[in-house]
Amino acid sequence: MSLWRPQDKCGLFAVYGYSGPGNAALITYQGLLALQHRGQESAGMAFNNSNGQIKYIKGMGLVDHVFPRDMLYSIEANTIIGHVRYSTTGSSLAVNAQPLVARSIDQIGIALAHNGNLTNTRRLHDKLLNEGQIFHTTSDTEILLSYLFRFKRQGLVRAVQKTMAIVEGAYSAVILSKNQLVAFRDPNGFRPLVLGSLGKAFIFASETAALDMVGATFIREVEPGEIVSAGPEGLTSIKMPARAKSSLCIFEYVYFSRPDSEINGKSVYEVRKQIGSLLAISVEAELDMIIPSPDSGVTAAIGLAESLKLPLEWAIHRNPYLGRTFIEPTQSERETGVRLKFNPVEKLIKGKRVAVVDDSLVRGTTARVLADLLKKAGAAEVHLCIASPPYRYPCYYGIDIPAAGDLAAMEPAFNCLAESIGVDSITFAKLSDLYNAVGIKQDRLCSACFTGVYPDLGKIRGKVS
Ligand code: 5GP
Ligand code: MG
Repeated sequence: MSLWRPQDKCGLFAVYGYSGPGNAALITYQGLLALQHRGQESAGMAFNNSNGQIKYIKGMGLVDHVFPRDMLYSIEANTIIGHVRYSTTGSSLAVNAQPLVARSIDQIGIALAHNGNLTNTRRLHDKLLNEGQIFHTTSDTEILLSYLFRFKRQGLVRAVQKTMAIVEGAYSAVILSKNQLVAFRDPNGFRPLVLGSLGKAFIFASETAALDMVGATFIREVEPGEIVSAGPEGLTSIKMPARAKSSLCIFEYVYFSRPDSEINGKSVYEVRKQIGSLLAISVEAELDMIIPSPDSGVTAAIGLAESLKLPLEWAIHRNPYLGRTFIEPTQSERETGVRLKFNPVEKLIKGKRVAVVDDSLVRGTTARVLADLLKKAGAAEVHLCIASPPYRYPCYYGIDIPAAGDLAAMEPAFNCLAESIGVDSITFAKLSDLYNAVGIKQDRLCSACFTGVYPDLGKIRGKVS
């Protein structure tokens, strides 16, 4: 197994030139808190001290664990980049926490925060090793950092341009130098990145919800292939139009992003609700009620219940103090985690024909446990509605997805999936439902996890990293 694991779903938040109430560190903290759902493994910030030396604070765990209040008040910088990280368990190492920093002997340097996953990591890693590079992490972000640091004497924007000509795959990123902050997005724009303003300060964030939470105003998205620089001269932008072609990750709408975020001008909440309501056409079972799998299935369940004119009941309680179970290392730990997380309200369920709605089915762990809990609580029938198509292909652009053999929707088991999950029927949303709900042309979205067609790699069937 390769040491180089995908960088995965992460959250970025950066502020340039903040001089309002509180300080830039507090704003970054609030922004990272708003993006906590994108990564709970580690959190970090990087900034320059008054001598122009680059400093960082980062650690394993949640944002409010890594940044005690006193620490935030002591950070004087008005320009900061921040990151929350979520990776597979194998690379859950403190050393991989971001931002990553490279500095010269005088402590002057650059810091980088990255969301996404490079696809030519292996080749670039070997090339850099042959050239004598020493690596300190097992993260592909270090490859980005190495190139940026090599080229930085030519200016930060030029360094980003030259690096973008070398690296492939998914990267939404922010980089900080002594007096400049540069945000850049790969030519496919796999992962989201937006630009906002807060007084005279500029903000870059993975999602618009983070702008809302700090009181910033949305300006626009950073475009695929765009390099936006914030510096003493204000904002400048360069595009790589020859290569740019949007392939925004459709799973951002399905699961990753917050429902109160907007991507490409589309409300994530509305998209999910619409997928749920389109799903109604395919549901054949006679039902008494719709139950969301909290919290990820809630919005789609609202749409489904509305379309089917059925009561929506919050009949599965989710313990809000328990985090993600998806990334536990073994199946039995994942199952125990899901069981600890959910408890059904027996009185509501007894004798009823229920549909439980979730956003996606990956390994099937959540659905299996929910089906079992609902049946034990006395449901007469349990039907499963999934607000996305069968998840069949690995993601190379930054999602933590298990090996093909672990994917519940992988053939040949697919025909008896309902039986193996323990439900009376399963209904999946159609890919066309997702495209209709998102309302963006399908060739501007990446749906490789559902189709096996990779925007920059073509069709790869059954190949799993
Ligand atoms: P399963 O339990 O079938 O393996 O995964 C599906 C459940 O996990 C759904 O409830 C969905 O909300 C959640 N999920 C889907 N993709 C991801 C992911 O990449 N990371 C995490 N943490 N959860 C996910
Ligand atoms: Mg879920």
